[in-house]
Amino acid sequence: MRLALFDLDGTLVDRTAAFADAVADLCRDHGYGPEIERWLLTELADHAERGDFARLRAEFGLRESAAHLWRVYVDRMAAAVTCRPAVLESLARLKDRGWSVGVATNGASDIQRAKVRATGLADLVDGIAASGDIDVRKPDPRLFELAAARCGTQLTAGDWMTGDNPRADIDGGHRAGLRTIWVAGRPWPDGLAVPHHTVTEVTAAVDYLLAHSTA
Ligand SMILES: [Mg+2]
Repeated sequence: MRLALFDLDGTLVDRTAAFADAVADLCRDHGYGPEIERWLLTELADHAERGDFARLRAEFGLRESAAHLWRVYVDRMAAAVTCRPAVLESLARLKDRGWSVGVATNGASDIQRAKVRATGLADLVDGIAASGDIDVRKPDPRLFELAAARCGTQLTAGDWMTGDNPRADIDGGHRAGLRTIWVAGRPWPDGLAVPHHTVTEVTAAVDYLLAHSTA
């Protein structure tokens, strides 16, 4: 069984576009002004977790509990985030050809799974490992190992990791013994092992996997 692991945010789904909408909705629904909106856009730019809302609450003396705000944020993000139909179709093709499809993502367990469910990815993904599940983040190889285990298998030479983050996804994938495909979009940092293949969108990564699975 061939295994293809994918990053979630910025690879399978567009977090950036959803993020600004989710923050704007949350602020509007609670009557929060531009100062709070700016804080959220800055502090949660890369990733968000429940503790961020405890900090927000303390910073601005908010009435709402951190648990409530986190729940609202998770709901809004899940509603706003999208996975393009072409991406869903390409993953379906990969599965039809006998591949296992897993997700290895840095993020809180509840929000990452909410995104996977809301975008329709849940039907196409065999297993998900979120860093919040075990308090281990990519590039730590243990998160890739967990993703494989959640797919009912283990990492073997010839398995693949596809993602947009050079350090977390590509360097991390190398360290886990995986072959890697980089979804380019940011500068490549010096000193990292180069990816086996580079694409500009994830559907092209799947095309590459399919082409190589017949070789
Ligand atoms: Mg990413």
